[in-house]
Amino acid sequence: MLLNLEEILKPAKEYNFAVGAFNVTESTMFQAIVEKAEELKAPVIIQVSPNEFAFSEKELYLYFTERLKKSSNPFALHYDHSKSFAGCAQAMQAGFTSVMYDGSRLSYRENVENIRKVTELAHALGVSVEGEIGAIGETQDFEAGIVADMIYTKPEDAVRFVKVTGVDALAVSIGTVHGLIPKGYTPELQLELLKEIASVVEVPLVLHGGSGTPEDAVAEACHSGIHKVNISSEFKHAYYQSVKEFVTENPTAVSPTLTLKQAVKEVKKVVERKLNVFGAVGMSRYYGKAKPFGAEAAERKTTIKE
Ligand SMILES: [Zn+2]
Repeated sequence: MLLNLEEILKPAKEYNFAVGAFNVTESTMFQAIVEKAEELKAPVIIQVSPNEFAFSEKELYLYFTERLKKSSNPFALHYDHSKSFAGCAQAMQAGFTSVMYDGSRLSYRENVENIRKVTELAHALGVSVEGEIGAIGETQDFEAGIVADMIYTKPEDAVRFVKVTGVDALAVSIGTVHGLIPKGYTPELQLELLKEIASVVEVPLVLHGGSGTPEDAVAEACHSGIHKVNISSEFKHAYYQSVKEFVTENPTAVSPTLTLKQAVKEVKKVVERKLNVFGAVGMSRYYGKAKPFGAEAAERKTTIKE
């Protein structure tokens, strides 16, 4: 079943676990994640970033949406880190059930103004919106272990932001870093800050930069207010390491089905481990007979506060 973000995160908040959100570029990775989620009966969010979205023709997302709708397992299809209204609108048109507008590097006022436009359109179509307040760390120099520009989320800002924008989920900056973690750097999750934010913000909170963050800390975060964890670099790294090993050992190999066979298994291993860390295995049982996406869209009213 294909749900929007609000629908897929609701049981996660109620039963205190997190839904894994995996960034995919093409159908091999997509299929590996979907099959593992179905096998483990875990709700999963498939994410596509703007660069990944631009990489393929839009018909790919027809396949994604049809495949997810047919499944008895709950899924959402999310457009990750859009910096533009147009990008969000295109994703909605392509059948995505959720979008993230990332205005975290803009002024607070601009971030709010822009995301309100996205929320207004999205909610009219039954699509959910994720916003971000504070700024998640970015790897500046992998070899030198330098992380730049982390701005922790302030609880009072988070409350105000959710109220005025009507977002359905909120990404918070509590110590994680996007991408592969630089050498010698250990992300330290601010779990007390997370608990403080979770106690005052009503919508589910999202952890970005989940790859490479110590898993015991991530597991604790998933019981302390985080209900969506984004994973990208970690399973992609496993995928390409496997491809590299295969082509090194078999330099004349030309068959993608052979080259990618082990890579798919490696992706599935990472996905299985992460879904266990998030406490999501077996949780599909809490989704009952959810209405198909779009059934209520016509009646849905925007939640933007004037
Ligand atoms: Zn992110």
